[in-house]
Amino acid sequence: MPELPEVQALVDFLTDRAVGRVVARVDVASISVLKTFDPPVTGLAGLEVSGATRHGKFLDLDVSGLHLVIHLARAGWLHWRDALPPVPPKPGKGPIALRVHLVAGEGDGKSGFDLTEAGTQKKLAAYLVRNPMEVPGIARLGPDPLDAAFTLDALRELVRTDRSQIKGLLRDQSKIAGIGNAYSDEILHAARLSPFKPAANLSDEETQSLYDAMREVLTDAVTRARGAGDLKAEKKLGMRVHGRAGQPCPVCGDTVRAVSFADSSLDYCATCQTGGKPLADRRLSKLLR
Ligand SMILES: [Zn+2]
Repeated sequence: MPELPEVQALVDFLTDRAVGRVVARVDVASISVLKTFDPPVTGLAGLEVSGATRHGKFLDLDVSGLHLVIHLARAGWLHWRDALPPVPPKPGKGPIALRVHLVAGEGDGKSGFDLTEAGTQKKLAAYLVRNPMEVPGIARLGPDPLDAAFTLDALRELVRTDRSQIKGLLRDQSKIAGIGNAYSDEILHAARLSPFKPAANLSDEETQSLYDAMREVLTDAVTRARGAGDLKAEKKLGMRVHGRAGQPCPVCGDTVRAVSFADSSLDYCATCQTGGKPLADRRLSKLLR
């Protein structure tokens, strides 16, 4: 799933390629992707793309005051096309869900982008709204971890009374926006914190480590994503523990372990993060009891 760094890279890319161009046409190949009906997507035709930005993991294309907001979810992706075919994609066939045709000027009618979704889980979502706050997922977003306003004190305030496990807090979009399963694993490893530790139990020193790790891991990932030819491959390459269970920890050499968490699993290093003690798999121990 694309998280803050990958979505930021897509924003930068679209700022470069799409801003200044005019929408020629939008093809909706999967009706379930489009979550809004007013204003209609046909209303985008003839309007200039004036900006691209991000709200957490949501991509927001400003088209002369209308906002095409995209949430890529687990299996969605955005593909830039220098040469789009004029024939619309067949509805319900293949991974293409939405296609946006852009023109730069007279005679140029071929570039644009496809929103695609692999697999059967249909979670990719697009919204056309007059104000991004009309998108429920954006309205309830917490602060952005790379925002200058998100200071160490702001994080202290956030964790102070929160009894949830720190792994859960980092992934909760209403508490901090843009971090998912992969970067929360990386941040906790860099901060040398147990993912199961209740947020409210963090010492001042640990909160400082968490803050520094969050800024460092995300800033570094954004920098790498910006220069990447393949965002997904670059994301995987930069991971120290996430997706690396069974491999040696690059910091201490201990074997990276996986343990179930919420709807999936998390990866961590026991030596770096839990004083050498492997975390008990609660789901498994429940079954064995
Ligand atoms: Zn380690």
